[in-house]
Amino acid sequence: MTARSFSASSGQRDRVLVIAPHGSYRTAPFLQAAKRLNLDVLIASQGEHSIVSDYARGLHIDFSNEERAIDVILAEARNRNFTGIIGTDDATSELAAKVAAKLNLPHNPPQAVKIAQRKDLARLCLRTASINIPRFDVLTTEIPLAQQETKVSFPAVIKPVALSASRGVIRVNTMPELEQAVDRIKSIMATELQIDKSVRETLLLEEFIPGKEVAIEAILHAGELDILTIFDKPDPLDGPFFEETYYLTPTSFPEEIQQEIKKIIQAACQAYGLEEGPIHAECRINEKGVWILEVAARTIGGMCGRLLSLGTEYSLEELVLLHAMGKRVEAKTMELAAGVLMIPIPGAGILKRVEGLLDAQRIPYIKDISIEIRDGYELIPLPEGNSYLGFIFAEAPTAKEAEKALRDAHNSLNIVLAPLWKISNMSLQGA
Ligand code: ADP
Repeated sequence: MTARSFSASSGQRDRVLVIAPHGSYRTAPFLQAAKRLNLDVLIASQGEHSIVSDYARGLHIDFSNEERAIDVILAEARNRNFTGIIGTDDATSELAAKVAAKLNLPHNPPQAVKIAQRKDLARLCLRTASINIPRFDVLTTEIPLAQQETKVSFPAVIKPVALSASRGVIRVNTMPELEQAVDRIKSIMATELQIDKSVRETLLLEEFIPGKEVAIEAILHAGELDILTIFDKPDPLDGPFFEETYYLTPTSFPEEIQQEIKKIIQAACQAYGLEEGPIHAECRINEKGVWILEVAARTIGGMCGRLLSLGTEYSLEELVLLHAMGKRVEAKTMELAAGVLMIPIPGAGILKRVEGLLDAQRIPYIKDISIEIRDGYELIPLPEGNSYLGFIFAEAPTAKEAEKALRDAHNSLNIVLAPLWKISNMSLQGA
């Protein structure tokens, strides 16, 4: 694709700052998008010894010292101006908002970004605004469950308040299941030392909302929501864990439900105080209406964002970059139907190989297959794991045909695992 010029009329190219956690899978698509828009881009990240050249050339900042990080970025801005600032992930969006505010660039109020990142704060905020959300209670891992009061009835969902990608999200149908799930989440959170202790100890218990689920990508411009697409999730997501699999677009929901989805997400954004930038949301739909499960102030990220680029003028990341520079372009809707399968992790073990890739690639409407985990690496399923095995993309005349192609391609794959042997102290001592 050729570069499109959005550069300043002065002749100097616009420069955007991309603040990204080291190794974020959202970074590369933003770099590609900046290139296509003919923008200069600087990455701000943590870690001195990166082998990735764009990181190495970028600004090295310490995310744990926010004041200092802001100073470093502002000093760089005095060197040469930024025309837009982006935080790629939840971990960097609050910092990006604070810096953009200081430089008078499009941004969200930092407090709104914080609310959107914390499931407990988000739920409290939406309840106050009377938005349709599951009944919930905020619990702690520090007091025995029996001593904590809750109005939530079973089936319920228990989750940590500051993870994503369904990590640690568990459906529970009975009290003993809830107790086991809490122990499991406690172990997961014990490894997340970058999260504040009090946040690691906070849990959200909420009623399980049955129904069909959709994911929504959108962009806010001065509080006004542009829906980019609504993805159907055709497989039932009834737990106990909630692994993402198929995303299909366009949605099969009628216009009137689509409008309701837009209305409730717009209301949630308003309740949080979000005004600018990308929105990724998840809703459930049943006979009682549309329910908000989550509204996050970021893109869907990485590979899945590619779906939005098929058949449209701008990729998702290009739209986000343009927005960050204060430019609103009309997002054309996709002409074709498309779908992605986030290839489920079939079990715990070491990935030996993925067989059948060529057969899968030859299936009509399959556009691309990418395996993200290399042979020899460990596969960790949900609720502990946080990566996908890979992605299969399809583009077809209808969403149904895209779905069938994805299912056929998945059936052609044979994912070979080897058992994982952990060396314990006992075995080392020859016991
Ligand atoms: P994350 O931010 O980690 O993705 P979510 O809270 O969005 O966590 O939950 C992940 C998935 O778990 C949702 O997409 C949905 O499928 C399921 N889920 C979460 N909460 C509920 C609920 N109250 N009722 C039904 N399903 C839920």
